[in-house]
Amino acid sequence: MAAKIIDGKKIAELTRADIAARAAQLEAQSGVKPGLAVIIVGDNPASQVYVCNKKKACEQAGMYSVVIEMAGDTTQEALMEQIETLKADDKIHGILVQLPLPAHLDEDAVIAAIPPEKDVDAFHPVNTGKIMIGDYDFLPCTPAGVMKLLEHEGIEIAGKECVVVGRSNIVGKPQAMLLLHANGTVTVCHSKTKNLSDVTRRADILVVAIGKANFITGDMIKPGAVVIDVGMNRLENKKLCGDVEFASCSEVAGAITPVPGGVGPMTITMLLENTLTAAKKAIGKNL
Ligand code: NDP
Repeated sequence: MAAKIIDGKKIAELTRADIAARAAQLEAQSGVKPGLAVIIVGDNPASQVYVCNKKKACEQAGMYSVVIEMAGDTTQEALMEQIETLKADDKIHGILVQLPLPAHLDEDAVIAAIPPEKDVDAFHPVNTGKIMIGDYDFLPCTPAGVMKLLEHEGIEIAGKECVVVGRSNIVGKPQAMLLLHANGTVTVCHSKTKNLSDVTRRADILVVAIGKANFITGDMIKPGAVVIDVGMNRLENKKLCGDVEFASCSEVAGAITPVPGGVGPMTITMLLENTLTAAKKAIGKNL
C-alpha cells in the first residue's frame, strides 16, 4: 500500500497563519512588531534565494524584516561591526547570518558574535548547550520543523525506534536530541556507520539528512515506517530531489515527506516562530 504523503506545504501554511495571528496580537498589545535582520555576504545564488524567501515570509507574517547585503570581500571586522549594530537595534529581535560564508571569514566567530537572545537560527554554543539539557528558547529551524510535522500528523514518538542519518550540527545532532527529549529510542548514523541498512530497517521513524540524492531506497525501510526526508539536492536537470528515493520508499513506508513540499517549507516557518519568541522575550511578554 502506498504511504501517506505528509504535506509540509499545507502544514507550513497553517503554522504560519497561527504565527501571524500571534505576532498581530503581540503588536496590538505592546506596539512591538517582531523584527528579523538577515545578513548575506557575497552573491551565492542559492543563498540569495533563501534570503529573499525569508524576507517574504516575514512580511507575510506581519513582521519587520531587513536584509543587509555585504560584498563578497567583506572583512571579518566589517561583518562583526554590522552584527554589533544589529545587536543594539531595538527593532531587531532576531539576527541571522546566511551560511555558508566566503572562505576567508571565520564562521564560528560570527556565530558566537550573535547574542544568544537574538540567535534565531539557534547555532550559538549557548543555545546548542540549552538544547542538550532540554531547556531552550530557540530550536534550530529544520529539526524543529520536522518535530512540528510529526506533531501535526499525530505521530507518537515515545518508545519508538528513531534513526537519524546524518550528524551535522545544524540538522542531524539537534534532530537526534529533540527525538530523545520526546522519549524516542534514538540511533544516529553517519558516513562511518557499518551496515547502514540494518540500522535504518529498524526505524519506526527515519529522518534522513545527508545531502546525497536518492540514497535511501525502499529495501532500507521497515514496512509502515515514517520517513522524513530533509535532503535537498539539485539534479543535473535542475530538478530538486531528496536523500530518499521517493518512488521505492513510498511503496514501503507508512508515511513520507516529499521533496519539494515536505521539510523545506517548515524551515522558514520555524524561523518565524523563533523571531516571534525572541520579540516576546525581549519585551517580557508571554503570549
Ligand atoms: P552536512 O554535509 O553538514 O552533513 C551530512 C551528514 O551526512 C554528515 O554527518 C555525514 O557523515 C553524513 N553522511 C554523508 N554520507 C553518508 C553516508 N553515505 N551514509 C551515512 N551518512 C552519511 O549536511 P547538512 O546536515 O547540512 O544537510 C543535509 C541535507 O539536508 C542536505 O541535502 C541539505 O541541503 C539539506 N538541508 C535541508 C534543509 C531544509 O530546509 N530542508 C535545511 C538544511 C539542510 P559524517 O559526519 O561522517 O561526514
